[in-house]
Amino acid sequence: MDFAFTAEQEDLRRTVRKFAESELAPLVHAAEDNETFPRHMFKRFGELGLIGVRYPEADGGSGFDKVSDCIVREEMSRVCQAFSSSWSAHSHLGIWPIWKAGTEAQKAGFFRPALAGERIAGFALSEPDGGSDIRALRTRAEKVPGGWRLNGSKLYITNAPIADFLTLAARTEPELTPAAISLFLVELPNPGIVVTRLKKEGIRASDTGLVHISDAFVPDACLLGGRTGTYPIILDSLSENRVGVAANALGMAQGALDAALGFAKVRKVRGKTIGQYQAIAHKLADMAAEIEAARWLVAYGAWRVDQGTLDAATAAKVKLIASECAVRVSEAAVRIHGGAGIMSDYPVGRIHRDALVYVIGEGTSEIQRNLIARGLGL
Ligand SMILES: Cc1cc2nc3c(=O)[nH]c(=O)nc-3n(C[C@H](O)[C@H](O)[C@H](O)COP(=O)(O)OP(=O)(O)OC[C@H]3O[C@@H](n4cnc5c(N)ncnc54)[C@H](O)[C@@H]3O)c2cc1C
Repeated sequence: MDFAFTAEQEDLRRTVRKFAESELAPLVHAAEDNETFPRHMFKRFGELGLIGVRYPEADGGSGFDKVSDCIVREEMSRVCQAFSSSWSAHSHLGIWPIWKAGTEAQKAGFFRPALAGERIAGFALSEPDGGSDIRALRTRAEKVPGGWRLNGSKLYITNAPIADFLTLAARTEPELTPAAISLFLVELPNPGIVVTRLKKEGIRASDTGLVHISDAFVPDACLLGGRTGTYPIILDSLSENRVGVAANALGMAQGALDAALGFAKVRKVRGKTIGQYQAIAHKLADMAAEIEAARWLVAYGAWRVDQGTLDAATAAKVKLIASECAVRVSEAAVRIHGGAGIMSDYPVGRIHRDALVYVIGEGTSEIQRNLIARGLGL
């Protein structure tokens, strides 16, 4: 057993922290106000090799492991979760299935340009009637000469308003069985698809859309892997990404603690800094302890990905603990700031709003508990 990160991983953390603080932090306020992701940053992520962190060099990636991917996520989310959400929907959800199951032509046309940040990806699974119950998704793909005709809708899709393509789940048979669910690489714009931008209370600087699909034609070449029935790829992708978003949650929690600790050391009330009051010091101590527990659970989940032994229940435990930790810690950080915690000049209110997204997105905490209970044989 070895609890140390490698020298290479520590080096990566320093590099990404410097990048996040020098290049991402200055963009946060304007992006939150404009409610859109600074699109040019995808190219920058690509140049720095940050999109391909966890993909092998042989496939065009940077050749790091999942532990390293989680370090990148933690450091980016520490500065701005909205940016990290757009990055994650692109670098994992949108393209991991292509890496795993795509044809050579799909890897050349979608995966590699996405790694370079030249084409922006999103992942369209959730629907107005089926967010938690993904097996019940209704978007239908019917076979027509030369391709497929798609009808349905997708809700809350990250990057949809700015995406060049969506990795989209649709039912290729009328039966409501998982085996009838397949993935398509849907290029945008498409005359049969209308994307409506949604206004949000959390991760405002990440674009989110409602995708309305009406008789959209998608060529045969865009059926992922050239085969139907790719539902298991979706499940594997979601499991791995639950560890990833747990790292995002960890970053938010760390950002909230850093801000609250800094504030507690300078804010004076009745002649003492508030950190000298035990009520505040204990709050900070609880936050630090909870973050430490989440950090090692995330590292364990990432290590399980690297060993090829991650199971759905373990992924759910990692996501549940880290995302709930981020909500509690960021709420405590707001309280420690007093009135300042509600002001936009301080980051903690934004972090708390963003953290709430992560007890919902990628499967709610209730769904994580269902997966854990299933693992217990219940
Ligand atoms: C900002 C944002 C970005 C998102 N990005 C994407 C994206 O890029 N791609 C994508 O496909 N989706 C995306 N989502 C969708 C997200 O995954 C869903 O919102 C989430 O899975 C919950 O689905 P729902 O909103 O339909 O809630 P519902 O499924 O309607 O759930 C409502 C409530 O009922 C509870 N509940 C439902 N079923 C059960 C059950 N079986 N047992 C116990 N409780 C249950 C839930 O926990 C929740 O509390 C995004 C969501 C948000 C908010």
